[in-house]
Amino acid sequence: MTDLLIGGSWRPAADGAEFTTFDPADGSVLGTCAKAGAADVDLAVAAARTAFDDPAWAEMPAHTRARLLWRVADLVEEHGEELAELETRDNGQPLAVARTVTVPGTAEHFRYFAGWCTKIEGSVLPVAYPDTLHYTRREPVGVCALITPWNFPLMIAAWKLAPALACGNTVIIKPAEQTPLTTVKLAQLIGRAGFPPGVVNLLTGGAATGAALAEHPDVDKVSFTGSTAVGRTLVHYSAGNLKRLTLELGGKAPSIIAADADIDAAVAGNVQGALFNSGQVCAAYARFYVDRKRADEFTSKMAAAAAALRLGPGLDPDTQLGPLISEEHRASVDGHVSLATAQGATLVTGGDRVDRPGFFYRPTVFADVTDEMSIAQDEVFGPVVPVLAYDDPDELVARANGLEYGLAASIWTDDLSTAHRLAARIRAGAVFINMIHVPDAATTWGGYRASGWGREMGPYAIDAYTEVKGVWTHLGKP
Ligand code: ADP
Repeated sequence: MTDLLIGGSWRPAADGAEFTTFDPADGSVLGTCAKAGAADVDLAVAAARTAFDDPAWAEMPAHTRARLLWRVADLVEEHGEELAELETRDNGQPLAVARTVTVPGTAEHFRYFAGWCTKIEGSVLPVAYPDTLHYTRREPVGVCALITPWNFPLMIAAWKLAPALACGNTVIIKPAEQTPLTTVKLAQLIGRAGFPPGVVNLLTGGAATGAALAEHPDVDKVSFTGSTAVGRTLVHYSAGNLKRLTLELGGKAPSIIAADADIDAAVAGNVQGALFNSGQVCAAYARFYVDRKRADEFTSKMAAAAAALRLGPGLDPDTQLGPLISEEHRASVDGHVSLATAQGATLVTGGDRVDRPGFFYRPTVFADVTDEMSIAQDEVFGPVVPVLAYDDPDELVARANGLEYGLAASIWTDDLSTAHRLAARIRAGAVFINMIHVPDAATTWGGYRASGWGREMGPYAIDAYTEVKGVWTHLGKP
């Protein structure tokens, strides 16, 4: 059983509650974790508040904070193999993904934000009042609740922890109930890095734990990655004390394949763009607008490439596609697929569960999809590729922008002017031209419209985790 981390000590939930986490590759029980209730949330928030006000953290020199973050990165790498295996067991992702994306991405995030600690600057602004000096200070927001999803648990924890700590906040992290184990391990490593007690607190639990944090009057900020529906709920919860919110929510990224695109390269890139982590990626390419002249060729090659992927447990070195996270989620994906067929889409490959233990679903390609069909509109978060055709490139922007989401988009073309004209007009937080979606600590991640509020990563994360204060000084005689 894993415990909660509150104020530097590990302890069970106050009421002794627990929950179970499963291996999605075979449905077996992986472990149990303490389930934090309202009393634990109160204690963790109080511990984070005490640590925030304690000079040991509040007055720690920036370069010392930087060293602590750098040390976390080193510890993540030292324990990389253990973290990778744990992530694969708890989340299902192929071990190669855990080793080459999850663990290095986590370590690099801590290193990137270690560099920021000493560069969080204010500025001197030329105000109009005579004899007046005005400067700005960037100060930490305060106690931050970090609520993460199950699709990339360790990496997304790092996306939030590293900038929050770099800016001098104190945090309570709450991983998703499906995948808590690597975040527990990360919290242990952070403890070893030498942060003062109470700077990083960990609460495992489900929606009720997250809700208690999001409603808490002494939490100053919530940073959340998850569904748009829960994001909307958090907006309501935050109203009590008007806490700050960063929301990274759902998506339905369009991928546009122009007539001049190299179709083989587009297929290779879009198979990854759509099916990486079994499609359980918020930026996954999830609706494909293909020039009608190339649509049949693209569809048949995508279907062949998708059907050729080797499904299996993430720990098997031959596996290219792991299971979905849970039976409940697999049933949801299957429901989207059945509806697509009922609404007239043509099933080209897949469309069914795999007959083996675990929550496997065959990669699925649909042809003859139209904009009105649910499969072209709803976020499936699974291995499903709906192909739509277009005749007139001028209609593309309206179709790509036609949903409430705006997280990511992709364009495949050899024509630079087509690529950059479309990139400017598509309403999304990231546009990938002739490449798959990738996050990078140095640049922005986040969405337009119902895909969220604010941005993570890069200098934008510093905005998300600081308040700006103006300081005015009258220089003349009083
Ligand atoms: P998904 O639909 O992909 O499971 P969710 O948005 O439900 O994603 O969950 C993402 C994270 O939000 C998880 O840590 C989950 O426990 C948490 N969560 C779910 N519901 C709520 C809620 N009402 N308030 C706060 N956190 C929540």
